[in-house]
Amino acid sequence: MATATAVYKEPAPKLDRENPLESMMSRFDSAADILGLDDETYEVLKAADKQVIVHIPVTMDNGKVRVFEGYRVIHNTILGPSKGGIRYDQHVHLDEVKALAAWMTWKCAVVDIPYGGAKGGIICNPLEMSAGEVERLTRAYTVALKDVFGPDRDIPAPDMGTGPREMAWLMDEFSKTVGMTSPAVVTGKPLVMGGSLGRTEATGRGVMTSTLAALAKLNMQPENTSVAVQGFGNVGSWAAKLLFDKGLKIKAVSDISGAYWNADGINIDEALAYKNAHNGRLEGFSGATLMPDPSELLICDVDVLVPAAVEDVITEHNAADIKAKLIVEGANGPTSASADPIINDKGILVVPDILANSGGVTVSYFEWVQNKQGFKWSLDMVTERADRIMTDAFNKVYDTSQKYKIPMRIAAYVVAIDKVAQTYKYRGGF
Ligand code: NAD
Repeated sequence: MATATAVYKEPAPKLDRENPLESMMSRFDSAADILGLDDETYEVLKAADKQVIVHIPVTMDNGKVRVFEGYRVIHNTILGPSKGGIRYDQHVHLDEVKALAAWMTWKCAVVDIPYGGAKGGIICNPLEMSAGEVERLTRAYTVALKDVFGPDRDIPAPDMGTGPREMAWLMDEFSKTVGMTSPAVVTGKPLVMGGSLGRTEATGRGVMTSTLAALAKLNMQPENTSVAVQGFGNVGSWAAKLLFDKGLKIKAVSDISGAYWNADGINIDEALAYKNAHNGRLEGFSGATLMPDPSELLICDVDVLVPAAVEDVITEHNAADIKAKLIVEGANGPTSASADPIINDKGILVVPDILANSGGVTVSYFEWVQNKQGFKWSLDMVTERADRIMTDAFNKVYDTSQKYKIPMRIAAYVVAIDKVAQTYKYRGGF
């Protein structure tokens, strides 16, 4: 029982950049026009099926109760149970959660896995909370959403600010509420409790597979190709490592500490070893030179640019200066909608986020399948199946872009919306 009754609620933050929902919808509209989507289906696919807002009272370590605001948005479940991560961040905003939920629908459809799209979030700062506070918040959020989550209803996963630890608490709490162990209710779990081999590197691996497939279309040889990678976290560091292993020259990498350049190529094994020994950061790495302005990485002289950090870094202000011939979007939403026409006019090939970073959700899907089977797959099996799905999806999107003479970003939406719209026609409404 809490010893104090003061109730604290985090202030709702304002969006200080391009509204992600509007960015997503402008691309959705372009694809809907190309497909000649009828008004009825357009209306069905545009709106989220369900938006749940919860207020979660949590007793903090000081004995006071603090009320957190949390969301779960189910964009739609036409292809199957909804799938999407949970974000813990001070800047979580309902519009952003809605955009990310829709993104998940298109991402799952583009790689042809039987999931709808969802996203969740809690306005909080996990860095300022103890492990116990985060655990109580996670368990309370799970209880609040126990009728939304479910292995055949809505399957959460980690996102910014959450990881295997939070997924383990969520799985445990949900299992208690239903009275049986339910591993398939959530993915991104620790390996020992039903996580999948190959999940950690899956998104970076998909970025690598997409990059190689795109280079082949551009008639470029990997061994003669240079790359800049923004972000050296899960996605960026794995993408850099796997591209480095394939013989590409990684001339620039960056993280929150700055951007690092080496015209002769950075030894990514050394950069990774340095990062692992220095609190996950590249600060002080001597295998490359610190660039005076980290945003220069985006316009540096390389063949391939892999933004793998945060949203809205390629904008109408820097798009004209990009020198890369190929952009492979490891991050979600790294390119603002206003930059699209500039990039297209320059003839840069873009492998869009909903395709390039879908290796992660693909292996999450494999985790769910394994949990349902009660059987673990080998790493080789995971990798081989994920590579096949990514390559098939790439080819389908590329062929669609050629057929309609449209950029790959819009082609990815065309493939995804067409799949969901066709399924909706068969399933029908009321
Ligand atoms: P992460 O937290 O592991 O890594 C983020 C990296 O970006 C860190 O190296 C950080 O220092 C760096 N960074 C942060 N701000 C930066 C800035 N302004 N400039 C340069 N570097 C900066 O996150 P992650 O899981 O690698 O996710 C990165 C992006 O990929 C996000 O947009 C995420 O939504 C997306 N994504 C991730 C996955 C996944 O499986 N992890 C799947 C799909 C999409």
